[in-house]
Amino acid sequence: VFVAFEGGEGAGKTTQARLAAIWLRDHGYDVVTTHEPGATKNGMRLRALLLDKETTGLSSRAETLLYAADRADHVANVIRPAMERGAIVVSDRYVDSSLAYQGYGRRQPVEEIAELNTWATGGLVPDLTVLLEVPPETGLNRLSAPADRIESEPSDFHERVREGFRALAEADPDRYLVLDASRPQHEITREIQDRIRAILPD
Ligand code: C5P
Ligand code: MG
Repeated sequence: VFVAFEGGEGAGKTTQARLAAIWLRDHGYDVVTTHEPGATKNGMRLRALLLDKETTGLSSRAETLLYAADRADHVANVIRPAMERGAIVVSDRYVDSSLAYQGYGRRQPVEEIAELNTWATGGLVPDLTVLLEVPPETGLNRLSAPADRIESEPSDFHERVREGFRALAEADPDRYLVLDASRPQHEITREIQDRIRAILPD
């Protein structure tokens, strides 16, 4: 079972992914929590390059390829091995982040990025994708740390990312659970648990 958490900045993905993993472990499941970009040793170097504000002049295509490279390494070295031993994988971001940020955000063809990522991942698609939906302004205000290279993008970029996630969820409603991330945290946690319960093996 593979569950991905998606959404813009400050939506609470990391918190909710962690809570879902704790809950699953409490119920005796073997759970691997992971994230993108930068879950592997080499991925951490790609993450540093991608998010460092001193990275300038990186073309959108190069950026897209680097995210896809990070993801290929992530799938090969973390996600697939975990799934093969029967663990539940909970990832903070996955392919849909690239469709939303590099596709909708950077205005690159979403279909082409989808194809690239199908290749990068060997076609691995989550069983469930939880989209935590928050207005960019609210989300960015929640962040305490100084903004990285992407968080520093103008608000219209983050608006396109948000609309992108929404469009992706609408196009694939069976795979998606869309939640308003401005609701109380415990309500969100509960809805996520209900949905995960429905896809667990007995
Ligand atoms: O989720 P986290 O904040 O750790 O991710 C790092 C940053 O990388 C995000 O804030 C987002 O701005 C950026 N990102 C991106 N494209 C992706 C994944 C993440 O621009 N495919
Ligand atoms: Mg961030």
